[in-house]
Amino acid sequence: MNTDNSSPTYQLNRRIPADEAYDLVVAGGGPAGTAAAVCAARLGLKTLLVEATGCLGGMGTSGLVASFGPVSDGERMLVGGFMKELLETMQARQAFGPHVVQEFLDAQLNRWVPFKPESLKRILDEFAVQAGVEIRFFTRVVEAEVQGHEVRGVVLSNVEGLRYVPAKTFVDATGDAALAALAGAECKVVLRDTDTVAPSTLCSLFAGVDWSHPDYGSDWRGIDAVKNRTKTELLPQAIADGHFSQEDRFMPGMNKIGEHSGALNGGHVFNLNPLSIRSLSDGMVFGRKLAVEYAEFYRQYVPGCEQVELLATAPVMGVRDSRRIVGEFELTIEDFRERRQFADQVAVYNRPTDVHPTNTSREEYERFLKDFHGKDNLGLGGSVGIPYSILVPRGWNNLWVAGRCHSSDTKVHGSIRAQSAAYLMGQAVGTAAAQSVRTGQPACDLDTRALVETLRGAGAYLPQARLSASMTR
Ligand SMILES: Cc1cc2nc3c(=O)[nH]c(=O)nc-3n(C[C@H](O)[C@H](O)[C@H](O)COP(=O)(O)OP(=O)(O)OC[C@H]3O[C@@H](n4cnc5c(N)ncnc54)[C@H](O)[C@@H]3O)c2cc1C
Repeated sequence: MNTDNSSPTYQLNRRIPADEAYDLVVAGGGPAGTAAAVCAARLGLKTLLVEATGCLGGMGTSGLVASFGPVSDGERMLVGGFMKELLETMQARQAFGPHVVQEFLDAQLNRWVPFKPESLKRILDEFAVQAGVEIRFFTRVVEAEVQGHEVRGVVLSNVEGLRYVPAKTFVDATGDAALAALAGAECKVVLRDTDTVAPSTLCSLFAGVDWSHPDYGSDWRGIDAVKNRTKTELLPQAIADGHFSQEDRFMPGMNKIGEHSGALNGGHVFNLNPLSIRSLSDGMVFGRKLAVEYAEFYRQYVPGCEQVELLATAPVMGVRDSRRIVGEFELTIEDFRERRQFADQVAVYNRPTDVHPTNTSREEYERFLKDFHGKDNLGLGGSVGIPYSILVPRGWNNLWVAGRCHSSDTKVHGSIRAQSAAYLMGQAVGTAAAQSVRTGQPACDLDTRALVETLRGAGAYLPQARLSASMTR
């Protein structure tokens, strides 16, 4: 796909091998795509999962974003179904940071859940293989064949060359709405004005953190205290000392993922255009330079980190936002503030809107803090519904999206783009695809009462009293 319309064009006419047909092709094996593929395969669909990198988990593994957004409203766990099963499996396999206790998951408001990316990779491999999903790693969806509002097949590219794969249904879980855009579905490119785009971050892994340092105390409260001090006192000090090459006032910080290791979500690459390969490439070079600056910052300023070593930066850029579909419905900040619940909701979620500062100015940082801690926070016991209709490109029959490229405004996106929400959306669209294949109902006119009932049967927490056969529009 060429995003630059002024480039000269070249017409390629050639025949490529065609594969057998599938019930469902899922593009992208991140949280959303993996959940979609596994849940659909468990419901009997012959499912192909196409992933550009060599592992499942998306940002959580390839991107080293080693922390799930909150899974509770502070009173009860909001996630059920596939995501709950994943949490339970990770807990049993000691895949979380060693300080993650059950209370974290069950009833802690705004508590992120750190994990080991390598453990997540293995668990998702097992889930997918056991469900009978056919996985193709190192493979990209590069073209779509479309008739009307229906995708007939996709062209895949990998070491074997190009291949055409026909299917009955398709899920776009690429984060960038890549398949939806290739198919010609209406999309919203979020980056027309780079000043208003959530910045990207190249995340990194560290060894040699002394989490037993007295400042960290004996549980997660101590870890939080040092994390807060790092943000509010030590980082500003380092900026004042001229340590960094840019004055970035916000950094989510180092997550404890092992007894001596940490995963850093730190260092913004501002003004990066994730839909431009040149910008992405420049961003990787800059992100790696920033990671070295943060390593040195931790060694010099942060207690217990005097000996840290930077082990690796992620092989992919951590993109927070790029392109979203125009859906049957758009979830907005007004819905969020009203804590709106929907008859067709396929998940409920509680996380503050987290649209990172879009530049290094003090005003932008203060805007971020106000949003994050102020009225754009759902509070104890609150949640917003995620309706089915934000996962359907408007008017499309056999195409869904899940995860980051759903249909919402920028502020709501800053909340529900989290991995935990992406897994919930993935289960919903995998289940919807199975219903569609079984009944012939198109995505844009699916019986959402039946969908919600199936999801509830699979353990999803969907508290809405009223159900409806038609989706929210
Ligand atoms: C720096 C950063 C920090 C974050 N912090 C947190 C956090 O602390 N907690 C949290 O829960 N969330 C966090 N998020 C958000 C969260 O990680 C993502 O929004 C979430 O992973 C989205 O899931 P997804 O499945 O939609 O997309 P992704 O995780 O991006 O997965 C998409 C997958 O699709 C693949 N793909 C892309 N294009 C193609 C193609 N054409 N063909 C085949 N495969 C393709 C990619 O390789 C990738 O594996 C953060 C995000 C970033 C960038």
